[in-house]
Amino acid sequence: MSAALNNSAPVTHRLGDEWLMAYAAGALSEGQSLLVASHLSFLDDAPARLAAAEAVGGALIDDLAPELMAPDALAQTLARLDAAETSRPVAVPRSASDDPLPAPLRDWLGHGVDELKWSFLGPGMKKVKLWRGGPNDQRLWMLRAQPGVKIPKHGHRGTELVLVLKGSFSDPHGGFRPGDVEESDGARMHALDIDEGEECICLALTEGPIRFESWIARAIQPFIGL
Ligand code: ZN
Repeated sequence: MSAALNNSAPVTHRLGDEWLMAYAAGALSEGQSLLVASHLSFLDDAPARLAAAEAVGGALIDDLAPELMAPDALAQTLARLDAAETSRPVAVPRSASDDPLPAPLRDWLGHGVDELKWSFLGPGMKKVKLWRGGPNDQRLWMLRAQPGVKIPKHGHRGTELVLVLKGSFSDPHGGFRPGDVEESDGARMHALDIDEGEECICLALTEGPIRFESWIARAIQPFIGL
């Protein structure tokens, strides 16, 4: 399985186990599930981590005192887990191809990166919106930025997850390479620097509209629609 991950450095910024447990339980939105499945396809030990998360999730259900639950609550929970088993995107190892899209994302889109309809986001930056829904007005979208581009300081209403698919970026929390996820509390303003040398493509899940710090970025925000 590690042979499928040739040419990639180890993933150092991993999603927390709480995300894997929620994913295993089918408790995530479609957009969240896609991002988690895409992240997992970069990990060598994804099947083991997922199995561990499922075991912990199962133990949590076992621990719930039956008398505290409605008579059919356990049956309903188990039915939901069964349904989730079949409906959530499946994490599979990345194939050795030039397309930077991980398999779960490519399968969901039904095509590769070249068929995406990119539109203007800012100088040296393009975006494509993929999905919107779930609680908290979640938006799943992709960012394509030229080498050396600086993404202006901004915030969000809720959690922001950014999965690197190609290239890399840096911010005060470190360097992020393919497979890495930056998880940030959107309430805090932050900026990203795209590294030199290669374009950077990211899959982002944000909640609510982006809030920019500078007036010029705020002025064009309605046109961006993110
Ligand atoms: Zn952000």
